[in-house]
Amino acid sequence: MWRWFLILQFMLTVLPAGAAEPVVTSPAAEIEASAERIVENFRKLIVLHDGSVRSRTPAASLAGRMLFFRNRELTAQLVEKLTRAPRNGDETGEQRVGRLLALFTAHTDWWDIDRIALLGVVNETRLRLPAGEALAQQLDRKREEISLIRAAYNNEFTAALASRAVSVVSGPRRAGWDGYLGYLRERYPLTRVIDELNPAQPEEAATPRSASAEAAARDEWTDGGLPPKTVLLTFDDGPHPKFTAEILQILAHYNIRAVFFQVGQNLGVVRGGRAEPSRNANIVAEMLRNGHAIGNHTYTHPLLPKLAAAAIDDEIDTTQTLLEAVAPAHAPLFRPPYGARNDLVLAEVADRGLRSVLWNIDSRDWADPIPQSIAQRVIDEAEREGRGIILFHDIHGRSVQALPMAIEGLLKRGFRFARWEAGVLTSEGAPLAAK
Ligand SMILES: [Zn+2]
Repeated sequence: MWRWFLILQFMLTVLPAGAAEPVVTSPAAEIEASAERIVENFRKLIVLHDGSVRSRTPAASLAGRMLFFRNRELTAQLVEKLTRAPRNGDETGEQRVGRLLALFTAHTDWWDIDRIALLGVVNETRLRLPAGEALAQQLDRKREEISLIRAAYNNEFTAALASRAVSVVSGPRRAGWDGYLGYLRERYPLTRVIDELNPAQPEEAATPRSASAEAAARDEWTDGGLPPKTVLLTFDDGPHPKFTAEILQILAHYNIRAVFFQVGQNLGVVRGGRAEPSRNANIVAEMLRNGHAIGNHTYTHPLLPKLAAAAIDDEIDTTQTLLEAVAPAHAPLFRPPYGARNDLVLAEVADRGLRSVLWNIDSRDWADPIPQSIAQRVIDEAEREGRGIILFHDIHGRSVQALPMAIEGLLKRGFRFARWEAGVLTSEGAPLAAK
């Protein structure tokens, strides 16, 4: 009940007024409406990072990050609807999954690339079914089909990059991608998408900064004060049972240590002040064994500046309690969801002995579905910034695919990887005098 209240509260916090979800009447119609909503959000996300000047504003980025997280929630809810035990009057699981699969053929207005939007739903529904079942095989085939579409767009990007046919606005020229983007720009004008999401943060009261907010703002990291040609990898929003494990393997291969900022609700619940970790939390022990650092990314991933002090405290403390239980050696690092914080948030973070950690190199894996393009963005931004903190999310296959390409590219350009070790940032064994 409490959890649902938090989710409801979250939706109320981020759902813009006037853009109410469509009213749906039956569980079957709900499945279709959710899937269509996910595709719609996926399209808007692509518009929000289309490379134009307006798409590079903080408002567009905040709107995009919020939409990204909303699609995560919608995906989890849809997977739940597809896989829960049938209730009175419900269709069978097979009928429900069949309804989802039928949408792919029924929607002749969807572009092939739109199908990537539902890859998470297909993957996660599949993970909940025993292998070998007819339904599982059907989902495997659908996953394969969507992976091929993604591979084609990936190859298109690689070929465009190799031919150096680069446009100033949207990167390498790609006939397929550019056609899709052109269609989206006409259908979802960027200004309208941003206005609809209304990501404006509440005005801050013009009161003098408290001493702890002052100190927190001074301590906050954006590029981490890292030396030239040094980067720190960070991953947000996990852990995810499949993708986080894959990322750990990749990092082990390159002997790189990262910082993982975890959303508490992915780790378990806290009842009567006591942590009850979920099975999903098991991977945290492996992260620590592999030398990675674990930080706090709130419990439900809300837009913190819209919350009152008590709710902010609850978001931080609940995750802190879970981290104490599953990762006693966690790092005193905190990342505000969407990078959104105000003086009150900074003060609450500082009062707990935590440091706020932002980023200056954004993979934009929250908007870009093409792995090669994500990797290239990381390399380009790292070159431009010269050093800094890189943001990825460990909850999507696209990030897993982009990661080795990004690491290889950075190594080739002479970048080193910093790590969080014994309470400080170090690089190649030497402590760094981080700001
Ligand atoms: Zn996040």
